[in-house]
Amino acid sequence: MVENAIEITGLRKTYAATKRSEAKEALKGVDLAIPKGSIFGLLGPNGAGKSTMINILAGLVVKTAGNVKIWGFDQDVNPRQSRAAIGVMPQELNLDPFFTPRSSLDVQAGLYGVPKSQRRTEEILEMIGLSDKGEAYARALSGGMRRRLLLGKALVHDPQILVLDEPTAGVDIELRQMLWRNVRKLNEQGKTIILTTHYLEEAEEMCDEIAIINHGELLIRDTTRNLVSRIDSKTLVIEPVSPPAGTLSLPEGVEMETRAGGRLAFRYARTKVKPGDILAKLREAGVEIADVSIEEPDLEDVFLDLTRSAA
Ligand code: ADP
Ligand code: MG
Repeated sequence: MVENAIEITGLRKTYAATKRSEAKEALKGVDLAIPKGSIFGLLGPNGAGKSTMINILAGLVVKTAGNVKIWGFDQDVNPRQSRAAIGVMPQELNLDPFFTPRSSLDVQAGLYGVPKSQRRTEEILEMIGLSDKGEAYARALSGGMRRRLLLGKALVHDPQILVLDEPTAGVDIELRQMLWRNVRKLNEQGKTIILTTHYLEEAEEMCDEIAIINHGELLIRDTTRNLVSRIDSKTLVIEPVSPPAGTLSLPEGVEMETRAGGRLAFRYARTKVKPGDILAKLREAGVEIADVSIEEPDLEDVFLDLTRSAA
């Protein structure tokens, strides 16, 4: 039994130079293992190398060096088995305009060698909410419908691993919620999910574990919970009954910021300062407090810290 859905070692990709652009090293030797059954987030800014990695997994981009195992199958040794284990919803809306959604799913199943008797075309149409659009012209489909169809296409061969490349970039809230509902359901049914995003809140909300890449290098990989706790900063927010008179003397390293409605936010390092120390200083200054809360760091903070230290 393999534990990992994906095992990547020493993965490199250099796009060759063209007349218009220089050679580009998009992946600089990445090692990454993604456990079975997880919802795994691959995070990074534009140009980090996320799609390059996904497209190598999908067999759409040829790697320059390294080793990729999908569901235990080495991509170079067992290309057919490794391809069968993974379904990819690409970032680009690359649909053939001459196929209706129903025929598009059927053709895709054919490409993956799924026999007619085992095809789940109607079930997939239903799941992606396109049952009534099965015979529509592709050009009559909205952007959101096309994206849903791409999700359906990734599922025709019932892969163990589903990869979504920026599934919610530029989609409306309704489609985003529909996607996440489907992703959660598929994960509960046992599928390993890998998604790329540059929306940090999204990764925080959806993913058990997260890897952050930038400039073709893996910066960090950890559980979402550990990632968040790695960040030292916290923020104490208070609502004073009336604005403090004069300047406050605060414990060293604490930064104050005024928020809407006269609230005051104090950013502090949790390993150095206790929120009680800040409150004590406020009491000394005669500030009466109507309400208090503490804000945890989010991935935006984690990401900023990491990219700053890596720069
Ligand atoms: P991401 O998905 O994280 O935004 P990509 O993997 O698309 O990043 O791109 C990584 C880097 O590789 C970028 O600098 C991008 O310009 C370059 N790149 C991507 N695809 C190609 C290609 N087909 N030819 C040349 N360079 C490419
Ligand atoms: Mg991309």
